[in-house]
Amino acid sequence: MKAIIAAAAISLMGAAQVSAEGIEIRRSGNTPSVMGNAKNFSGHAVVSPLLPPNESTRANLGQVDFTPGARTAWHTHPAGQLLIVTAGKGWVQEEGKTRQEIAPGDVVWIPATVRHWHGATSTSPMSHLAMTYMVNGKNVDWQELVSDEQYQ
Ligand code: MN
Repeated sequence: MKAIIAAAAISLMGAAQVSAEGIEIRRSGNTPSVMGNAKNFSGHAVVSPLLPPNESTRANLGQVDFTPGARTAWHTHPAGQLLIVTAGKGWVQEEGKTRQEIAPGDVVWIPATVRHWHGATSTSPMSHLAMTYMVNGKNVDWQELVSDEQYQ
C-alpha cells in the first residue's frame, strides 16, 4: 500500500525531485557560521547558512547577525529578498529614499533589482533571517561598500 501511494505521489509530481528521506530538520548551530566577507560587509557581520535552495524554495535561507555599525554593501537581488528581523534594531535603505528603521517581527520585501543595503543601527546590533531567491544559481549582485556618510 505504501509503495502504491509513493508511486502515485511520484507520478503526480512528474519530473520534480521526491525526497526519499521525508521531513528534514537542520538542528540549530550544526552548520558553521562565517564572518561576512569584508568586500561585501562593513564592520562585523556573522552569516549563518540555514537551508540551501531546493527545487521547491528556489531560495537560500540564512541568518545574519550585525554588530552596531555593521551593514551590507550596496547590492541588488535578481529575484528579490525577504528579510525577517529577529533581534535588535536595524536600518534598511533603498537608493534614493530615506533610510528606515526595522525591528524584531518586521518583514521586509526587497523587490528584484532594487539597489539597497541593510544592517544594524549605529548603536544597536541587529539580526535578521534572509530568504534570497535564486536565478540561474545566483541570488545577489554585490556593489560598493556603504560609506560612513551614506550610513549616517
Ligand atoms: Mn539585500
